[in-house]
This record gives sequence, structure tokens and C-alpha cells, in this order.
Amino acid sequence: MTYSLAIHGGAGTLLKENMTPEQEAAYHDALARALEAGEAILREGGSAMDAVEAAVCALEDEPLFNAGRGAVYTSEGAQEMDAAVMDGRDRRAGSVAGVFGPKNPVKLARAVMEQTEHVTLIGPNALEIARQAGLEFGDRDYFFTQSRWDALHQTLAMRARGEVSDDPAVRHGTVGAVARDVAGNIAAATSTGGMTAKAPGRVGDTPMIGAGTFADNATCAVSATGHGEVFIRWSAAGEIAARMRHAGEDLATAAEHVVMQDLAPNDGSGGVIAVDGAGNIAMPFNSQGMYRGSVRQGNAPETSIY
Ligand code: ASP
Repeated sequence: MTYSLAIHGGAGTLLKENMTPEQEAAYHDALARALEAGEAILREGGSAMDAVEAAVCALEDEPLFNAGRGAVYTSEGAQEMDAAVMDGRDRRAGSVAGVFGPKNPVKLARAVMEQTEHVTLIGPNALEIARQAGLEFGDRDYFFTQSRWDALHQTLAMRARGEVSDDPAVRHGTVGAVARDVAGNIAAATSTGGMTAKAPGRVGDTPMIGAGTFADNATCAVSATGHGEVFIRWSAAGEIAARMRHAGEDLATAAEHVVMQDLAPNDGSGGVIAVDGAGNIAMPFNSQGMYRGSVRQGNAPETSIY
């Protein structure tokens, strides 16, 4: 069996007309590094779960993307991060919502999966699990990026004038990975700062299993990015798996249907990355772009934005 890996850095891409060649190169480099972090594990025969965690950690550490370092700000100027992992072997899952502190919220999601009997934790006890797991913490300076801070103030000023930003790079972003390992197992991981100027306490689709994150060896592993409220209401990730399971659709057809027919007409801008049990990859999106990359064993890695 061969391995496959796909990653995304969110559908909140800079608009094509605003993207400089230097910025474009920086995004491609960051995506390539994250792909390599995950592929290195798969190449050595490691698990899909380890690979998606490593790829997402690399994206969280990268200030260009809205997750971990570089997360967006709430309307009150705080950073509240959501993350999830799911293992396709047995549908075990872990997620956290609204956390601030751990440098890699995806590692905390995995600790919730492996070290508690629960799926989702919030609040002080989620941070306690992070401490018990020995995870590294960062402070406000570590997570700060000027561009996200400026985006918050721009969004609040527009809101005060009764306007809504239609620039996806200002509104949102997320990171994620899906993989199939050489043992044939699949896994998904997603991590986000959510949406710029979101209400304090708002939870998006990312940590909701079946909305922004899903994995089951019998069908597919999915990591989503986009307008979270709509992804939640349409059970986006789980719906792709359901179409495969109940309607016999292949991965590409099922993913395309959900992104284009369910989400797009209902204000659900964004996209998904998905891998099935045979290692096929689908990466449909209905937004102008989606930072993304993929690699299959024996092929060169590829990264794209638009
Ligand atoms: N889906 C994320 C959220 O709603 C944001 C994004 O992917 O752009 O929290």
C-alpha cells in the first residue's frame, strides 16, 4: 500500500489582485515545509495520525496561517483557538474549543483523545490536560501578528459603519491535514483561530466532529475550512462520508457535491481536503482560493493557492 497526504492553510486566501510574488512564494514555501513534515513520517512507515499532527503543527507554527501562532482575534482582542483530530481506524476523536496557551492546539486535541474518556474539552480543564501532557505554552507575544491585529481593527471599524468585509483573508482561515498511511489507515486534523472579530466564546466547525473534521477508514478523512456556521449546519465533513457510505459515491463526487451544491448556495464559502481508504485525494473549494498541497507516494509534492 502507498501513502497519501493533503494539507490546507485555509480558504481565507489573499485576493489574487492583492498577492505579491514575494507573498505567494512565502505561502508556497510554508505549505511545502508542512507537507514535508507530514510526509517524512509516512515515508518511514509512520501512522496517518502522526503525519497529520506533524503537518498541522508545522502550519500552526507558521504565522502566515490562522492557527496557533498567527491566530485571528475575537471582537474583544483575545485569541480563542479550536482544534480536532480523528482516527479513521476506530473513529476515536479529540477536540478542544476556545483555548489560549498551548502553542499547538492540535496536540492538545490529540491528548484529549488519548488521555481522557471524552471527545471535546473546553475551559480550564482543557489547559490542565495540556499541562499534564507536557505541552509547550506560548504567551500573547508569541501568538501576536500585526496583520491579524490590523485585520481585527479594520473589521471592527467596518462593522461600526454597518459594512461587512468581503476579503476572505481578513475574515478567516484555518489549517488542516488528512492522510492515508502504508498500513491503509486514514486520519484527519484541523486547527484554527476561527473568524476575525468573532464573538467571545464562539465555536466554529473545526472542533465539531462531522462538521469541520471527520475520519473513518470505511469512507474518508476530511478537514474543512470556510464559513464555520454553515459547515456546522450542513454537517459538511460527515455528509461527504455519508454520501460515500449510503449513496455509493466516490470521494471526488461526494466532496464536490457538498462543497458546490450544499455549502456554496447557502453562504458556505470555503472548501475541504479529503482522502479515502484507497489513498485518493480530493480538494474542492468554492472560494477564490484555498492554500493547499498534496503528495502521493512516488510523486513530487504539489502546492497551490488559486
Ligand atoms: N472554519 C473556520 C471557522 O469557522 C474558519 C475558516 O476555516 O476559515 O472557525
